[in-house]
Amino acid sequence: MKNKAIFLDRDGVINNDVGHYYIYKKDDFKLNENVILNLKKFQKNGFLLIIISNQGGISKGIYEKKDVEKVHNFLKKIFEKNGIFLKEIYYCPHHNDFENCICRKPDSLLLEKAISRFNIDVSKSYFVGDSERDIIAGKKVGMKTIKIEKNKFKISII
Ligand SMILES: [Mg+2]
Ligand SMILES: [Zn+2]
Repeated sequence: MKNKAIFLDRDGVINNDVGHYYIYKKDDFKLNENVILNLKKFQKNGFLLIIISNQGGISKGIYEKKDVEKVHNFLKKIFEKNGIFLKEIYYCPHHNDFENCICRKPDSLLLEKAISRFNIDVSKSYFVGDSERDIIAGKKVGMKTIKIEKNKFKISII
């Protein structure tokens, strides 16, 4: 049987991005309200949880992959303490001012990778994002999409 999943954008969805264009320091990483509660609920309802994030600041030379990994380890620790287990965090390190790629949202390569690796049924899966590019990426692979208001993790239909 195929799996169902909730795909999530990171900045502005999982964590608060007010006042930051790029978040690559633990101190700047603050979870949004209701994230823990909602992700627990999704997990309980059988959804895999997968984050898909654009981190073009790497391409721009503002920070490095190791900074992103540190933030992600920090995030995973907070989640694990709360009984939430992410399947994977995928991120695109590119930025189209510097290099072309097909993994930066609104492109969908990272979603396709996850779909294939975790045997995901897109018709039962969602992309939750705060930007139009999240929604476009989700639609490209045939998922349902939910656009939330920036930093307001309110989802009632799942
Ligand atoms: Mg975002
Ligand atoms: Zn990319």
